[in-house]
Amino acid sequence: MKILVTGGTGFIGSHTCVKLLEAGHQVVIIDNLINSKKEIVAKIEILGKKSMEFYEGDIRDVNRLEEIFTHHNIDAVIHFAGLKSVGESVSMPLEYYDNNVNGTIQLLKVMKKFKCKKIVFSSSATVYGMNDNVPFEEDDPLSTTNPYGATKKMIEEIMQDLYVGDQDFAIALLRYFNPIGAHPSGLIGESPNGIPNNLLPYIAKVASGELEELSVFGDDYDTIDGTGVRDYIHIQDLAEGHIAALNYVQAQSGIEAFNLGTGEGYSVLQVIHAFEKASDQIVKYKVVPRRSGDIGSCYASTQKSKNILHWEAKLDLPTMCLDAWNYVQNGKKVNK
Ligand code: NAD
Ligand code: UDP
Repeated sequence: MKILVTGGTGFIGSHTCVKLLEAGHQVVIIDNLINSKKEIVAKIEILGKKSMEFYEGDIRDVNRLEEIFTHHNIDAVIHFAGLKSVGESVSMPLEYYDNNVNGTIQLLKVMKKFKCKKIVFSSSATVYGMNDNVPFEEDDPLSTTNPYGATKKMIEEIMQDLYVGDQDFAIALLRYFNPIGAHPSGLIGESPNGIPNNLLPYIAKVASGELEELSVFGDDYDTIDGTGVRDYIHIQDLAEGHIAALNYVQAQSGIEAFNLGTGEGYSVLQVIHAFEKASDQIVKYKVVPRRSGDIGSCYASTQKSKNILHWEAKLDLPTMCLDAWNYVQNGKKVNK
């Protein structure tokens, strides 16, 4: 199939594009490079052993999208493009609603115009909101606590309405848990700009000596050791989940949400210790008060994805940490 990947040079997009090329698909990327670099394109092509088309552009630019759909017979879209920082979304809500919600509406309009009606969308476990009733199941009630989460919930609702109005659409809403790790080659991975907000990139920078010490946000949750528990999933497993979702939308119309997680939760301290072991470095940390908006535990029920997508995560936490560390070390070599 010929697949348009929005946000294809980003963290999850780049790993998914490699899997798409490996699976024999043709890939066309649109990315405005607001949070990624063009040099990723060549790296994806090296790893996927095939070339692809890259369009620098914004999904809100209807002319650019129409140019792509005119030049390529796109069979399906995997839609990653979006802004993703919770904290930033609180201070810049209009930019988040415009980029994520308006951008998706423009994309869907162009898809409808060109009769391309298969889409896999990057949603997030954040749509389960402050619900602490783990494991989360796809039909649990949804709620949000910040503009970023609200954009994901809104887009899910827009897509539900789109399907009600046009039942030729085939839509997979993928609710990611906590993707970490990197491609085992060390060539692509997660490179957040500035000081990371997420746990794993922060730990990696402490282990490599770039940052002094990790702040552990609270040790008074009702969890194994009091620190927050999350469902970390290897980026390679997550990328595979998109191939499964693509097969699903290829086979039938409809709209379904799927959790992409491992179903297992690890605490912040467990992740620190796993990373120390993988990197053979000390990760210095101190416990500080809870981060506002955080919940104690968040992990997926994986039954629906197993049953319907025939997909499940395979890689364990030590492998996630090893690959994340390998990517950091490889980056150091390249930048020397
Ligand atoms: P990322 O920032 O690495 O990738 C997103 C890509 O989209 C970037 O390359 C960016 O340049 C591009 N982009 C942003 N706005 C665009 C626009 N208007 N037009 C064209 N390109 C645009 O993020 P990621 O971690 O790869 O996440 C991909 C998707 O998955 C996002 O929608 C994100 O919200 C969602 N998600 C991510 C996580 C996570 O922990 N990484 C968790 C849940 C959901
Ligand atoms: N966390 C932490 N210190 C940090 C970043 C995160 O203790 O510098 C904790 C956070 O409170 C949560 C877990 O690590 O329990 C995962 O946080 P992250 O921001 O990576 O993901 P999310 O909160 O979105 O699940």
